[in-house]
Amino acid sequence: MNDTLTGLYDRPKFIDTLSELVRYAGEYSAPVGLLVIDVQRFHKINKNFGHSAGDVVLLAVADVLKNVCREDDFLARIGDDQFALLLSRVANVGHAQLAASKIQRLLEPPVRLEHREIQCAVVVGISLFPSYASDADTLLQTAEFALEQAKLKKEPVGVPVNKIEEEISEEWDIEVSLDQAIARSELRVFFQPKISLATGNPVGAEALVRWDSPTRGLVSPQVFLPMAETIGFMKPMTIWMLNSALRLSTDWTRKWGRLSVAVNIPPSILDQPDFTDLVLNADKLWERDNVDLCLEVVEESLVSDIEVAFKKLSLLRDHGIRISIDDFGTGYSSLSYFRDLPTDELKIDQSFIKGLKTDMSNIHIVSLIIEMAHRFGLQVIAEGVEDREIVSYLKKKKCDQVQGFYFAKPMPAEEFSDWLNAFKPITDEPE
Ligand code: C2E
Ligand code: MG
Ligand code: MG
Repeated sequence: MNDTLTGLYDRPKFIDTLSELVRYAGEYSAPVGLLVIDVQRFHKINKNFGHSAGDVVLLAVADVLKNVCREDDFLARIGDDQFALLLSRVANVGHAQLAASKIQRLLEPPVRLEHREIQCAVVVGISLFPSYASDADTLLQTAEFALEQAKLKKEPVGVPVNKIEEEISEEWDIEVSLDQAIARSELRVFFQPKISLATGNPVGAEALVRWDSPTRGLVSPQVFLPMAETIGFMKPMTIWMLNSALRLSTDWTRKWGRLSVAVNIPPSILDQPDFTDLVLNADKLWERDNVDLCLEVVEESLVSDIEVAFKKLSLLRDHGIRISIDDFGTGYSSLSYFRDLPTDELKIDQSFIKGLKTDMSNIHIVSLIIEMAHRFGLQVIAEGVEDREIVSYLKKKKCDQVQGFYFAKPMPAEEFSDWLNAFKPITDEPE
């Protein structure tokens, strides 16, 4: 259908044409530009001067657009006060911007109504296939979004901020190099100590992965783990961490008695059918007599199939492997599962610990978790401990262990062995 007022294509017809043109352009690797043109104050014009005045304005805008339209371009009215102009021959976004400026210049003279003249202004949102969109729907969405942004910023023309080509190639680049990180020996194990509050001695360490990328330097797991999930890198990485952490812990001094080495296990790995075999094989391979293996699992791991997860964790505990529930308090936990939870310790999420000084409710949450854990025979560790006052508070509340920058930041494995040798227990904590 055509729009009855202007005779231009209406929205459905425009969308069909857009899809066809984008498909064709894709085949021939030709760019397509899209301008979405929004008439400013249109509803006010309608309200103040009547619908016939609104129609005159729309016809005036349509005339200007027809004037700018070249052969092979398409023009449509896609909303009450919105037009779309599809530019089939553009080389880059600059061409589309030129077309937008031309439209705005041609609309500078006021539109003549019966008894008055009104100034008619338009805001234009631009998008380009394939630079900012890889299909017809996205092309329209990105142009409409650019229009909204321009209106918000009170600018006459809006262009999308992110260029799809660059985003994709950047991501692809990271994915490819991350995928090869193990083969190129670019992963590193960092250790962060866990300290007993009762004795002041170290009781073990958590292994934290780092990626030493030749182009980006040391990359935080927070940055690359989401990508690792999407490219199936989690499993090889976890197996690598498990074996490396165990191997490195064989060097640890015996002066502190039994220690534990903790490895983080993401939910997707606990779900795998060969998970328990992987862990038991690694545990057996790296023989130690003074370091226990501990697995840190998050609450989400226990949600999807709680029975299967409990079975696996129980089996591992039967083999002397410790289980710790990481980031405790942030996930889904029901009191009822506590009774059967196959775990040794709860690790209170750092958000509660950091908020201890500022928010009363965190004090309640932390003391509640400690009491509850003890009642169920579990140990409690607080992570994210950054100062002495918090250490004193946790000690008073009978929290068992602490981990945090106050004692040590995560450090490279070799450095941690030396740290462990040189550590002097903190005995002067006020009770
Ligand atoms: P997480 O397992 O809860 O690890 C604790 C995080 O808190 C670590 O960040 C550690 O550096 C940081 N942290 C410890 N004490 C403090 C403190 O006092 N203040 C502050 N601001 N931060 C502290 P990191 O190493 O960046 O790891 C972040 C998360 O990435 C980890 O949270 C864990 O979920 C994940 N991750 C790290 N290494 C591995 C790994 O080997 N495998 C898997 N699957 N996940 C890992
Ligand atoms: Mg952890
Ligand atoms: Mg944690």
